[in-house]
Amino acid sequence: MAYVITDTCTKDNHCIDSCPVNCIHPTPDEASYAEVPHLYIHPTECIDCGACVPVCPTNSIYVLDDLPEDLKHFAEKNSAYYN
Ligand code: SF4
Repeated sequence: MAYVITDTCTKDNHCIDSCPVNCIHPTPDEASYAEVPHLYIHPTECIDCGACVPVCPTNSIYVLDDLPEDLKHFAEKNSAYYN
């Protein structure tokens, strides 16, 4: 896993538009979009490019290794979405 989205995400979708490998879900056209509290990055499809970080207006995206201690559980939450 490279990058992780945390719960300050407001689903504005700039990251979805910026991701070159389309590994951020759900997208607005997916059924679960309305129900999920925030977006999730696929743990193995992410190519660690960093393009999503600067476009996030709420600074909700972290490199896994830079996750603050109190946000570390979001790594599992992102991964769990794809299980
Ligand atoms: Fe997509 Fe790059 Fe962000 Fe990974 S780091 S989720 S590949 S934009």
